[in-house]
Amino acid sequence: MKRVLFPIIALGMFAIAGCNNNKTADMDTSNPFFTAYNTPFQVPAFDQIENAHYVPAFEEGIRQHSEEIAAIVDNAEAPNFENTILAFDKSGKVLTRVSYVFYNLNGANTNDEMQEIARKISPLTSKHSDDISLNPKLFERIKAVYDNRMEAGLDDQQIRVVEKYYKDFERQGANLATEEQNKLRDINGELAMLQIQFGENQLAEVNKNFKLVIDNEADLAGLSEGDIVAAAETAKTTGDDGKWVFTLAKPSLIPFLQYAENRELREKIYRGYFMRGNNDNANDNKQVVKDIVRLRAEKAQILGFDNYAAYVIDENMAKTPENVNKFLIDLFDAALPVTKSDLVEMQKIADAEGGNFNLQSWDWWYYAEKLRKEKYDLDENELRPYLKLENVRDGMFSVANKLYGITFDKVTNLPIYEKDIETFEVKEADGSHLGILYLDYFPRAGKSGGAWCTGFQSAGWENGKKVDPIVSIVTNFTPPAGDKPALLSWDETTTLFHEFGHGLHGLFTEGKYSRTAGEVPRDFVELPSQVMENWAGEPEVLRMYAKHYQTGEVIPDVLIDKLTNSSHFNQGFTTVEYIAASILDLDYHELEAPAEVNDINAFEAEAMAKIGLIPEIIPRYRSTYFSHIFDGGYAAGYYVYLWAAVLDSDAFDYFKQSGDIFNPEIAAKFRKYCLAENGNDDGMVQYKKFRGQDPSMQPLLKKRGLN
Ligand SMILES: [Zn+2]
Repeated sequence: MKRVLFPIIALGMFAIAGCNNNKTADMDTSNPFFTAYNTPFQVPAFDQIENAHYVPAFEEGIRQHSEEIAAIVDNAEAPNFENTILAFDKSGKVLTRVSYVFYNLNGANTNDEMQEIARKISPLTSKHSDDISLNPKLFERIKAVYDNRMEAGLDDQQIRVVEKYYKDFERQGANLATEEQNKLRDINGELAMLQIQFGENQLAEVNKNFKLVIDNEADLAGLSEGDIVAAAETAKTTGDDGKWVFTLAKPSLIPFLQYAENRELREKIYRGYFMRGNNDNANDNKQVVKDIVRLRAEKAQILGFDNYAAYVIDENMAKTPENVNKFLIDLFDAALPVTKSDLVEMQKIADAEGGNFNLQSWDWWYYAEKLRKEKYDLDENELRPYLKLENVRDGMFSVANKLYGITFDKVTNLPIYEKDIETFEVKEADGSHLGILYLDYFPRAGKSGGAWCTGFQSAGWENGKKVDPIVSIVTNFTPPAGDKPALLSWDETTTLFHEFGHGLHGLFTEGKYSRTAGEVPRDFVELPSQVMENWAGEPEVLRMYAKHYQTGEVIPDVLIDKLTNSSHFNQGFTTVEYIAASILDLDYHELEAPAEVNDINAFEAEAMAKIGLIPEIIPRYRSTYFSHIFDGGYAAGYYVYLWAAVLDSDAFDYFKQSGDIFNPEIAAKFRKYCLAENGNDDGMVQYKKFRGQDPSMQPLLKKRGLN
C-alpha cells in the first residue's frame, strides 16, 4: 500500500524544471500559475487556484516550453553544454508549476471536474512530450554534445547529465525512422488515456459500487468500539443513518477482516475488495488491462527490446528481468514453507472453535489475529491508544532530529488545499531553512487509496541559488472518531515513517541539474523510505513517542516485548502475497508482441499456479486493481520494494552493529551518499560508498524470520 510519486515526473521521461525568463506580458495575470507564487516560501497559492486555471496554464505552459525548445534548436551557435543541455534542463517552468499542483491534487483531492480536466490535458501533454522526445533537430544537438562530451572540458556531473539525456531520447525512440516514431506517438497517447481510465474505474469501484451496510448490531460482534463508532459515522455520510457502513478503504476494510466474527460478512467485504474492476460492469478494468499490456509490448518491440520488462529494468539496479525473477523466486521459496506452517496452526484454531470448514482467503486476517494473540498475546488494538497520530508524527520528527539534527516547526500561515492538512518548516541544525513539508492524513471521497509522498517543488538550482524543496505526504489513516483522536494501527505507524523517509530524500536532495538531482533507479527509490520503518519499532524509539493518548503513560515494556517478539509474525504471508503480485507484474510485462491476453482471470490463475501459490492467499494486488503497474508508474517494477528491502535491512544493520541506532557518522554518510547525492552515480555505486561493502540478504531474512 505504499506508493511513491517523488520526484514527480510530469511529462514522460523529462523532469522539467524552471526556466529563467518568465514573461507574463500578454497573459492573464490573474492565473496563479503564470507567475512565481506570492506566498510564504513560494508554496502553491492554493487559496487562489481554481479549476478554471488548469487548462489555460497547461496550454500556456506547453506554448512557452515549445518556444524555449525552438530557441535551443534554432540557436546559430554550435551545440554545447550551456546552450543545449543546460537550456533544456532549465526549460518549462510554467508547465512544471501547474503539473505539480494538478497531478498532486488529482490524486489527493479530485472530483468529476478535475477528472474531466485530466482527460482533456492528457492528449496535450502526451503530444507535447512526444514533440520533444521525437524532435530530430533537438536530438541532433544533444547527440552532438554527447559525442563530444569527453573533450568539452565538462565535469563529472555535467557528463552524467549529458549521458542521461542522450539515453532518454534513445529510449523514447529518437533514433528510429519517422514511421516507427509515429507509431510510438499513437501508442503513448493511447496508453496515457488507458491509464487514466484504469484509475477512474478503480476509484468508482471503491467509492460508488460497494458498501457493506449492517443494520443488525449482532453482526458487529468482535469489532472494537473505535471501529464501530467509525462505521456509524461513515453511515451518516452514505445516507444510512443509524446503521453501520464498512467500505473498501483500508481503515474500514482491514479491521473488519481482522475482527468481525461473522464469516459470511467477511467473505462479502473481501469479495468486494478482490473483485474490484472485475465485475463486468461499467467500471470493469479487464479490457483496459489487456489493451495496456498489448500496447506496452508493442512499444518495447519498436524500441528494440524483447519485452516491456526488459525495457524498464534496463534502467534499474537489477538490469534484467531474469535477475529479478531469480531474486523473487529465491525469496518466495524461503517464505512459502513458513506460510504453510502458519496456515496449519490457524486451521487448528478454527477446528478447535468447532468451525467445520477449510480456511479461505477471507479468513486469513481473522485467524492470523487469533494466532498472533495465541503466540504473542498481542492484540493490535492494545497498541492503538499509544499511537496517537500527533505522537507518532513527533516521534518520527525526533528520529530525524537525532540522526540529522534537523527540526520541524509547525506553520499555520501557508495556503492549504483542504482542511486538516498540516504544514511544517524544516530547518537544518544551524537554523537555516531546508524546506517545507505538507501532511495530509485522512481519507476522503476524492483521495486515491494508499499512501504516497510527492512534492510541489523539487530541490534544485536556479540563477546560482539553491531552490528549496516543498514535500507532501498523503495518507489514508484512521481519522478521529467521536471524542477520540486519530489512533493509528501499527501498519499505519510504519507507513507514516515510510513516507517520511521519502520526504527526507526529497528534502535532502542536492544537485545543480534537474535531470540528476534526486534521480535514482526505481529499485533504489524505496531504500530511503523503508529504512525509516526500522526505527519505528526500536524499543528506544517507541519509548520516545508511544505515549497513551489519555494518561501520557509511556508504552509499557511488556507491550514493547510483545511487539518485538511478534515482528516475525505473518511475515511469510506478507512476503508471499507481495511476491505473487510481483510475479504477476513481470508475467504481463514479459509478454512479447503481439501480446494478446485472452482471459485476464485465466492468465492470473496460470501465473499463480506456476509459482505454487496456495489458494488461501491471493496476490497482494490482482490485475484489475493493480494501480502500481497500470496507472502508477511501477510497471515491471513492483518488485522494487523487496529489492530495496534487502538494502534497507542491510543499511539498518550497519547502524545496529555500531551499537548506536543514531550513530551520527553513519547517518551523515547515509544522508550524503544515499539521500543528498544519490543522483551522482549508479545506485549500487552510491550504496557501496555509504556501506563500504556489498549489501547482504541475510539481515532481511533474519528480520522476517525466513532463515
Ligand atoms: Zn515508498
